[in-house]
Amino acid sequence: MVPPVQPRKLAKVPFVELADGRLQGVVSSGSDIGRVYVSSIAAGTHNYNCSTNNNRPCGGLYGSPCKHLRALVAEAVVQYGADRVARYLRVEVPEGEELADCLGGAHEPAPAAVVFSRFLRHLAYLEVPDTTLPIPELHWFPATGTVS
Ligand SMILES: [Zn+2]
Repeated sequence: MVPPVQPRKLAKVPFVELADGRLQGVVSSGSDIGRVYVSSIAAGTHNYNCSTNNNRPCGGLYGSPCKHLRALVAEAVVQYGADRVARYLRVEVPEGEELADCLGGAHEPAPAAVVFSRFLRHLAYLEVPDTTLPIPELHWFPATGTVS
């Protein structure tokens, strides 16, 4: 993974990538620390999906992208830069407009399991430096038990 263009807030969007013809990633639930959403937007069609990692559909998908998808787009822009994300998704972003507002897709179910397992593999491959500092990408795991 390339170093982010700007520092990222990993606790909110622990995983984001441009892969498999999609912008896809994992977004923490705003309200439940033990829940994550797998969100994706297809390049070209801009059709989108958001569901929990157990494939339960996101409740925020009523005819327009939910806040998780918007968070995913925002983090992708931080990670890759707006130009690269826009090129990858093949979206025209007029001067002064937000990329997330220029996507014209519709909801299209997509399997969350593939993205989620890529995320878990990504975590496994992270090199953990010798430090006592908490690892932001592991924060959402309820198993760490350090909910404060
Ligand atoms: Zn959602």
